Amino acid sequence: MICTCIFCGKEFEKNAKGRTPLACYDPECRLKLAEKQAEDDRMRKRKYRARVRKARKMSLSEIADLANKAGMTYGQFVAAMEGGTHEEADGSCGRTAKGC
Ligand SMILES: [Zn+2]
Repeated sequence: MICTCIFCGKEFEKNAKGRTPLACYDPECRLKLAEKQAEDDRMRKRKYRARVRKARKMSLSEIADLANKAGMTYGQFVAAMEGGTHEEADGSCGRTAKGC
């Protein structure tokens, strides 16, 4: 399968199974890809944390309502919210998500 590098536009043969790579195997492009992914990851985390912060500001009845819509009990919903925070922690900073 031929893929096009998003950085240099070069066409390259996909040499591994699984996900289609975004960048060619040029070391420079791999580095840019890693930076881009790190940036995407930060963006995702920022959005996620903004969502959690927003959720934390909601009143109990609002959360209960959301939980109800999600087909969960209030407790399950809060646990999922808190659990999600935990999953977001990749441990790279050596702290929990809450500590970051
Ligand atoms: Zn490239």
